[in-house]
Amino acid sequence: MRIGFGYDSHRLVEGRNLIIGGVKIPYGKGLLGHSDADVLCHAITDAIIGALGIGDIGQHFPDTDPQWKDASSVEFLHYILELTTANSFEVGWIDTTVIAEEPKLSPYIELMKQELSRWGIPQGRLNIKAKTNEGMGFVGNGEGIVAYAVCLLKRFPGSLYTEKL
Ligand code: MG
Repeated sequence: MRIGFGYDSHRLVEGRNLIIGGVKIPYGKGLLGHSDADVLCHAITDAIIGALGIGDIGQHFPDTDPQWKDASSVEFLHYILELTTANSFEVGWIDTTVIAEEPKLSPYIELMKQELSRWGIPQGRLNIKAKTNEGMGFVGNGEGIVAYAVCLLKRFPGSLYTEKL
């Protein structure tokens, strides 16, 4: 078994869509980034990359690469999950926390879980928690949104153990 941890943050600005966990959430602002800045997808992707031991999300999807400009972050996640399977690992469990003062995210959690399962996270192996920062700091004053994720990967039982990753 392997574990991985991921963290991400993005600034909230006007004139952008708010995409979290692959779901477009109605709100007057969105997260700023080279891609769609889906903070939850980025934290999960980094947690899986950490468990695979292959660096970080920036190495795999550089923000200097025009290929990833306005990219949908569920595609990053999908790519990393394919790499996971190709190396004989499977997702055992992913737990996450998204911290946003506004908007209220709890009504969208089930939708996010459904959406992320469409991109390869095994159904029933993802937990998403949403909370505020009690008005404190850059999250509390609405400057940005933060996400944390931990991931457990398991080697396929009976797989040819190649020690590739
Ligand atoms: Mg990010």
